[in-house]
Amino acid sequence: QRIITTHMNWEEDAAELSLRPRYLNEYIGQQHVKENLKIFIEAAKMRKESLDHVLLYGPPGLGKTTLSQIIANELGVNIRTTSGPAIERPGDLAAILTNLQEGDVLFIDEIHRLNRSVEEVLYPAMEDFALDIIIGKGPSARSVRLDLPPFTLVGATTRAGMLSAPLRDRFGVVNRLEFYTVPELTFIVSRAADILQVIIREGGAEEIARRSRGTPRVANRLLKRVRDFAQVKGEGVITTEIAKEALERLQVDACGLDHIDHKLLLAIIDRFDGGPVGLDTIAATIGEEAQTVEDVCEPYLMQIGFMQRTPRGRVLTPSAYQHFGREMKS
Ligand code: ADP
Repeated sequence: QRIITTHMNWEEDAAELSLRPRYLNEYIGQQHVKENLKIFIEAAKMRKESLDHVLLYGPPGLGKTTLSQIIANELGVNIRTTSGPAIERPGDLAAILTNLQEGDVLFIDEIHRLNRSVEEVLYPAMEDFALDIIIGKGPSARSVRLDLPPFTLVGATTRAGMLSAPLRDRFGVVNRLEFYTVPELTFIVSRAADILQVIIREGGAEEIARRSRGTPRVANRLLKRVRDFAQVKGEGVITTEIAKEALERLQVDACGLDHIDHKLLLAIIDRFDGGPVGLDTIAATIGEEAQTVEDVCEPYLMQIGFMQRTPRGRVLTPSAYQHFGREMKS
C-alpha cells in the first residue's frame, strides 16, 4: 500500500469520516470556491429553490467529497452519494433519481466514468427535473415523462476535460479545487491532531504539511503514521524531529515525493534523457497504471515545477535534476 496515495482505502474510511469538516467555515482554504458557493447557497435558500448543479474538479484527496457533504449541510438537505462506475444501467440511475426528495443533493463521484446510456438519462433530469421512460418494445414503444423533485447534482471528477461536453454544459457552477498551501495544510494537520487527541508541536505539523503534496488526504494519512511513531518512540508528542524521522522512514522525502515518484523521475532521467516521453511509455516502464501516473503523480510534479507536459510528451525541468543532484545534459 502506497503511503501517500490520494485515494481512499477501506480500513481508513471510518477515521477519515471523523476528520471531515461539516460546514463551510470549518473547510480550510479554497477561498475562491468557498466564497462563490456561499453566495449561491444563500441565494438558493432565499428563493427556496434547489441549488444549481455543481461540478467540482481537481486531483484526488483535495476535498471534493467533503465539499459535497458541506453543500448538503449548508442547504439543510439530505445527500445521496454514488459514483460513476457504480451506476451501471439507466435503470440504476432512474431508481436513485426517483428516490430523491425535494432539494436533495445527489453526489456522483468520478462522474466522468458514467456510461453513455446512463448519461443520457441524466440530461433531462438535470435540465427539466424529468425522467423519460420507454414503455414497451418495437413499434408500440412509447416514451413517458415522469416528473422528479428538484434536486442538486454535485459531480466530482479528477479532470474536467474527461467529461463529455453535453454533460459539462449542464452544470451551472463549475469549480476547480487547487492544491493547498503549506500554512493551510499545517492548520488542517493541527485540527486533525486535535480530533485524534494527539499532541503536536507547530513545527511537527508544518513538517507533515510540507511533505503532503498539497493534499489534505495525504496530510491526514501521514499524521496517523507519524502518530504511531511518536507513541512508540517519542512519548506521544509529535515534534519536528519525530515528524522528520518518521517521514524519512516512510520514504517520503522533503518535497513529499515517495518511492514511486522517485522511480518515475529517475526513469525519465536515466532512460529517456529527461524526455519528452509519452505517458503510456513511462507508465509501462515503471509498472504503474497510466491513470495513476496521470491523476496522482503528475499533477503534483507539475505543481512543484519538476515536470512539464508538452505536445511531444512529458519533460523534466532542471529542478527535478537538482533534486537528485544530477546534471542535466544539454
Ligand atoms: P476528494 O473527494 O477530493 O478525493 P475528500 O473530500 O475525500 O477528497 O477529502 C479527503 C480528506 O481530506 C477528508 O477526509 C478531509 O478530512 C480532508 N479535507 C479535505 N479538504 C479539507 C479542507 N478544506 N479542510 C480540512 N480538511 C479537508
